[in-house]
Amino acid sequence: MSWERIRGQEAARVQVAQAWKSGRLGHAYALIGPAGVGKRLFAREWAKAMLCERRGPELTACDHCSACRQVEAETHPDLHWLRTPEGKHALPVEEMRQFCEALARKPLRGGRVVGILEDADDLNVESANAFLKTLEEPPGAALILLLCSGWEQLLPTIRSRCQQIRLAPLNRTDIHAILTEHGITDPALQEEAWRWCRGSAARALALVEGGLPQLRQTLWEGLASGTIAVDRWTQQCIEYAEAAGKDSASQRERAELLLDLLVEALRQMLRQQVGASLAVADWSVSLTSVATLTPERLLDWLDRTLLAYTHLERRVPLPLLFEALFDYLARSLEQDTQPASAPT
Ligand SMILES: [Zn+2]
Repeated sequence: MSWERIRGQEAARVQVAQAWKSGRLGHAYALIGPAGVGKRLFAREWAKAMLCERRGPELTACDHCSACRQVEAETHPDLHWLRTPEGKHALPVEEMRQFCEALARKPLRGGRVVGILEDADDLNVESANAFLKTLEEPPGAALILLLCSGWEQLLPTIRSRCQQIRLAPLNRTDIHAILTEHGITDPALQEEAWRWCRGSAARALALVEGGLPQLRQTLWEGLASGTIAVDRWTQQCIEYAEAAGKDSASQRERAELLLDLLVEALRQMLRQQVGASLAVADWSVSLTSVATLTPERLLDWLDRTLLAYTHLERRVPLPLLFEALFDYLARSLEQDTQPASAPT
């Protein structure tokens, strides 16, 4: 049935079912978990079960009635989603007000009203303030679900008005199964994705799709041999990020993954420079000529790459972010290879 398609979140599922059975279901919950563990899917199934017209005793949606189908299509009149608009850093207060107004309306299909706030991380003080009254005392029988990456990310005024449900990172079996469902059946690739995905299905898929294995090889070899192709690398990184779809959060997740890979390459190169063994067998990448790069240069590159994470957080446009980063690496390399202050 419907909940079964959500992998690895049995504890959270049981928490919801028990609250429901004992008649203690609250009116506002924060679904907390890292990106890619299924928060959105979980919220959708929960909403569907609340709105289903032939609901089972365990708060299970039938998946077939017209209400269930409307939830799946995001056309159910009593289910309201609120997302941060493309290109915005914070949730606009005006959209929050509209969301609260929608939650205050009587259910059109006679059941309840459910509101899902997808980007609770993006609440600023203004939009949070506009939300407080509705969150404290939802009108009628409204249920509000907030999706966020961490409990601490939420403003204290929001935290005090919600109950927590934690969604766990997925385990190895779940990640392998999800990859298989997506047609990724090569055991080596599955294992590689598992090692690097931090329990996120979205990240595991991003690791094996969109030509990432090839791009990773290009970037790693280029770094190691000190040949930085600024324009080509920028273009390839953008193409990879944009292949995630139009959603800018998904694009940023992919960009973050690329930065992770760059950091890992630099970390491994540093290890080699200080005489430690190279541990990149996982990636079937052989880094050869790293001898030309000094540990100081590698540390400098590492610093600059870490700075790019800050740019990512501040939502610097990705083409600018990658171009500036690669340009810095290339320029610093030019400085290194210029003859050191030859006497005149
Ligand atoms: Zn149904």
